[in-house]
Amino acid sequence: MSLASKSPEPRPGILDIAAYVPGKEHAPGVAKVHKLSSNETPLGASPKAIEAFQAMAFNLERYPDGQARALREAIGAVHGLNPANIMCGNGSDELLGLLCHTYLGPGDEGIITEHGFLVYKIQILAAGATPVTVEEKDARVDVDAILSAVTERTKMVFLANPANPTGTYIPVDEVRRLHAGLPEGVLLVLDAAYAEYVRRNDYAAGLELVSASRNVVMTRTFSKIYGLAGLRIGWMYAPPEVIDAVDRVRGPFNLSAPSIAAGAAAIRDQAFVATAVDHNLTWLARVAEALEAIGLRITPSVTNFVLIHFPDEAGKRAEEADEFLTRRGYILRAVRSYGFPNALRMTIGSAEANEGVIAALTEFMGRK
Ligand SMILES: *Cc1c(COP(=O)(O)O)cnc(C)c1O
Repeated sequence: MSLASKSPEPRPGILDIAAYVPGKEHAPGVAKVHKLSSNETPLGASPKAIEAFQAMAFNLERYPDGQARALREAIGAVHGLNPANIMCGNGSDELLGLLCHTYLGPGDEGIITEHGFLVYKIQILAAGATPVTVEEKDARVDVDAILSAVTERTKMVFLANPANPTGTYIPVDEVRRLHAGLPEGVLLVLDAAYAEYVRRNDYAAGLELVSASRNVVMTRTFSKIYGLAGLRIGWMYAPPEVIDAVDRVRGPFNLSAPSIAAGAAAIRDQAFVATAVDHNLTWLARVAEALEAIGLRITPSVTNFVLIHFPDEAGKRAEEADEFLTRRGYILRAVRSYGFPNALRMTIGSAEANEGVIAALTEFMGRK
């Protein structure tokens, strides 16, 4: 008796999806847990965002503004963009999905990279299209590899810049070269979830490229530096034709009213963002240096996380380190599903958490 004869059958591709597994949250039996597995900020949200969220508690019977105007206007004001070219989503994950459902169908190909964010592949498959994975070079996106994978079936290219879980980036010149090499009918999606953290002269999130072309979109999130992952707020900056098309697919009230209010207050508080950037720059350098000093290899990161590579040696592997750390209340992210079976990704946390991980890994690496 086959399953298909008993229950409705999902569309082709759906059962090829490996469902997304979020970072671990629990360390059983440990009193104090430091969750460093999902790139959340240790600084929480801006007090102004929290206040705006709380104020909405007395208006919950009303539908939210389906256009999220207050939020789009705040984003536009802070980034110098026309709000008409901004669309908000229930997290940027929703926007990535909407883009796939708007532009991809059976027979189409979406290009992703070897260690790319898993949501791209999931959404390409969900749209019935075919993900095409290209290799990276030293955990960095390889523009030439992407360009040589383009066929007449290619409809979308996904690039996280900086990338997760590697923390690496490609310079703006490389992004331009990638765009210049793509046919006009291919949509280039620049996922800039960690853009705020980057302090490099040759980096750009992609705003100018979006403004100057008809086939580039940039997605951003309030889940990382803004500390609002629990509210689910993302946005994209896109050409008018893309906004118009995706708007037809989007749920009419995809952001909640508290999300719209909190997001608008959060983005207007750029002093809070600056504090978060400073905290991260200080600790990113300290953590990387300390872990390298005990013999671990770190992929150079411009984000709020580091990819830690463990020795290929019994007792010293990533899986064992993960268990060792979890027992002490430090939850990092296993990244086997991203093609790194012997690495862990660590989010830069509070001073206490960072120092705790350094101390625990020093003990781990020193054990006989
Ligand atoms: C965290 C992250 C996002 C953000 O997702 P949200 O749905 O906005 O929370 C998007 N892309 C990448 C690469 C990420 O790491």
